[in-house]
Amino acid sequence: MFRQAKWEEPLIFELSREGRVGYTMPKPIEDVEIEIPEKLRRKSSLNLPELSEPEVVKHYTRLSEMNYGVDSGIYPLGSCTMKYNPKINEEIASHPGVAYVHPYQDERTVQGALKIMWELEQWLKEITGMDRFTLQPAAGANGEFTGVSIIRAYHLDHGETQRTEMLVPDSAHGTNPASAAMAGFKVIEIPSNENGTVDLEALENAVSERTAGLMLTNPNTLGIFEDEILEIAKIVHKAGGLLYYDGANLNAVLGKIRPGDMGFDVVHLNLHKTFSTPHGGGGPGSGPVGVKDFLKDYLPVPLVGYDGKRYYLDYNVPKSIGKVKELYGNFAVMVRALTYLKIMGREGLKNASEIAVLNANYLTQKLKGTRGYELSHKELRKHEVVFSAEPMKKETGVKALDVAKRLLDFGMHAPTIYFPLIVHEALMIEPTETVSKEELDAYVEALKRISEEAYSNPEIVKGAPHSTAVKRVDDVLAAKKPILSWRMYIKLKEEGGVDY
Ligand SMILES: *Cc1c(COP(=O)(O)O)cnc(C)c1O
Repeated sequence: MFRQAKWEEPLIFELSREGRVGYTMPKPIEDVEIEIPEKLRRKSSLNLPELSEPEVVKHYTRLSEMNYGVDSGIYPLGSCTMKYNPKINEEIASHPGVAYVHPYQDERTVQGALKIMWELEQWLKEITGMDRFTLQPAAGANGEFTGVSIIRAYHLDHGETQRTEMLVPDSAHGTNPASAAMAGFKVIEIPSNENGTVDLEALENAVSERTAGLMLTNPNTLGIFEDEILEIAKIVHKAGGLLYYDGANLNAVLGKIRPGDMGFDVVHLNLHKTFSTPHGGGGPGSGPVGVKDFLKDYLPVPLVGYDGKRYYLDYNVPKSIGKVKELYGNFAVMVRALTYLKIMGREGLKNASEIAVLNANYLTQKLKGTRGYELSHKELRKHEVVFSAEPMKKETGVKALDVAKRLLDFGMHAPTIYFPLIVHEALMIEPTETVSKEELDAYVEALKRISEEAYSNPEIVKGAPHSTAVKRVDDVLAAKKPILSWRMYIKLKEEGGVDY
């Protein structure tokens, strides 16, 4: 078959030719009859594609070239911290002593693994100013659920059964209200003021004896620091509520400020954001939860203990909320995070935050004033910035979605779009510290060129992407009728249906 472009990749089943093989098995030394009971035998042969080894390698290499990842180029997905993942992390995580350890091994045989977890906890305590951590949650959202469940358990334990409301600002990540609701709370939304920060007056009016806590992200999802945080903490604590810190994205503040010093009682971190292991493809993740001393008896079991000689799994957590994930969490992500922390060191982490903030502000200044994009809220940002494509949409019909799709034609990953919800046509850009000035310049150049196109030839932007394997997909159809297997694909093809 003549292939026009690398995008026209047939399925591996279509490449199959009868009788082609990619392996040779050694002949058995003796003729052994292996007796597989009749009832366990297949009735028909497995329908596997038949190809040679080089064909398989070329096929998968071509497929990998259609993909885009943190190793391909800039990936400025706001709120997601898609930073470069140092290759040494992978090397350490795939070390046999780490990769082949079994969760049911006897404690005496996994002292190294327990030490990794214990050491990681010490780092996280110092970074956040908290007193004790569980590493069990498998993601940020899982960590949030754990954290708010701890808050719930604390209030119930103190007879405060009326504390049923969780306050969440309108700029929060969608997982915040979802986690609070899952833990049984009624979610009360707190509006932001014109600076993009929590409206103190609205907060004052919202707190009561029903307040269980406030979930806050700082810097928030606009990339703006909540500089009235001490006042916020006072208001919530005075009302008897606890303060929850969404630390999914700690990239702006490493070594600078600590949630524990800002008055927070519970925090979760996303190891798979701030501490490398970017999470394209939806996992695996790790969302450790840290608490102040007075909440440590509510943490999930087991914790990792150390008596000065020996590491152990500690099930002695009197008021534990129980388990939030099977076994001990996603260990390999913890290994990567500890590797990252040890290599960066204190100064390295501080430096990373400084460059992350510098990069976001450099990009802000270079893009600011470009026709069609409007900077949301104030100028000075932390690790990320949000522009609105609302003016562009009004004047040309080109939406944030179109801008994002057009970026793909320039070989660049789109920013997060339509989030946070309080900015219309939001383009949320987080470059991270791992891109160079040249990459930032090229990104701004691409966004400027898209602005020019929007005003001179909007159709080219609206029809984008033009140069990728998959063109503009029908998002609703893709969600409602996903094609998840080759069989589904063939069936749909036969029915003359979908062409993506
Ligand atoms: C990513 C993120 C979360 C959720 O983390 P997951 O690991 O995706 O569940 C929560 N809050 C903020 C601010 C985030 O950026």
